[in-house]
Amino acid sequence: MSTYLNETDAGRRIMQRCDELGSITEPGAGVTRLYLSPQHRMAAETIAGWMRDAGMDARIDEAGNVVGRYHSDSGGGPYLLTGSHMDSVVHAGCYDGPLGVLTSLDCVAVLHGRGRRLPFGVEVVAFADEEGTRFRTTLAGSRAITGQFGEDLFNAKDGDGLSVREAMMEFGLDPDAVGKASHRPDELIGYVELHIEQGPVLQAADLPIGVVTAISGQTRAVIKLKGAANHAGTVPMGMRKDPLLAAAEIALAVERVASAYPDTVGTVGFIKAEPGSINVIPGEVSLTVDLRSQADDNRHSAFRELDIAARAIAALRGVGIDINTILDLKSCPCAPGFVSQMTASVESTGVRPLHLPSGAGHDGMAMSAMTDIGMIFVRCKDGISHSPEESVTAADVATGASALLHFIENFQGRP
Ligand SMILES: [Zn+2]
Repeated sequence: MSTYLNETDAGRRIMQRCDELGSITEPGAGVTRLYLSPQHRMAAETIAGWMRDAGMDARIDEAGNVVGRYHSDSGGGPYLLTGSHMDSVVHAGCYDGPLGVLTSLDCVAVLHGRGRRLPFGVEVVAFADEEGTRFRTTLAGSRAITGQFGEDLFNAKDGDGLSVREAMMEFGLDPDAVGKASHRPDELIGYVELHIEQGPVLQAADLPIGVVTAISGQTRAVIKLKGAANHAGTVPMGMRKDPLLAAAEIALAVERVASAYPDTVGTVGFIKAEPGSINVIPGEVSLTVDLRSQADDNRHSAFRELDIAARAIAALRGVGIDINTILDLKSCPCAPGFVSQMTASVESTGVRPLHLPSGAGHDGMAMSAMTDIGMIFVRCKDGISHSPEESVTAADVATGASALLHFIENFQGRP
């Protein structure tokens, strides 16, 4: 059973618009569309035009988000928010972000085409800055909508030393008016986002879409190891204090500990050895640890275990160790009622509903401060994202669109 008359057409239509939006980019490979850039302006105006065509009241808000409202049958709110982000990383693909915006927009266009209004409004949002590529700040768009756009954001600077505040003025926004972008909690009944999976799980399970259970929490730490730098030729193996070998063992401990917990992943993405010379035993090594899980208990237990293991490894090798936690971000669960309604929506498309966590961050993290959230993933080829190689199929997009429309049309609020 489908809520679309012709799903295949919908998939093609949505992807065509993703491609059209993808042509609004800085020069170079793939898509580069950064917060408060001329490309941001052009993309926002394009999306706002499409929203108006779909029967929505659309505007670019005080933070640069595009907000389109399809009012309820009584002519107003409250609104179910749906959408995703329109900014990108450098040399990105066409679908990370825009697929969620344009699928949401298409769902409303279908309702509008049928002359159908719901007992609540639907608000489609194209968030202005999820990736945080330009100013190294994330979720600026959704933080504006939930009233969390603080001084840290205003003062963040891009590579040329231009602050967000200055860039906003250049873009034609009044930074002091950013509070007007924020929604009242009673205006919202929830936030639901469709996004590419950015991982290989759906492809491995041979499923086009999946139901997200939570956005994983994260621990990030920097570990510094101090040994004794010395000549690579003169110091016998048994007489060394080599911090790089300790780092290698710690990296393996990250793999072992993360593998022991369900839905938990751990990564050492950076190692630096100093002085970094082919004929010198390193004297100092720093490495990073990134640990994620949808269950905060598991993440905290895993990190404690890793902390103990790393100290034991360092002690055995006679090297000093300093472990500095630089981020401890709570997991952001999808509301149980949203998960069960999304499960029913996925089933309505004839697809077995697979539940999976999101290891990547999303605007839902900021939205959850104000309202219940839900997410649906669409399979992407080989799990690749943040690359021009990013790829989805029209059939998968159509199935995702159908599930999202089913979710919107049957939305029951909090059970
Ligand atoms: Zn994204």
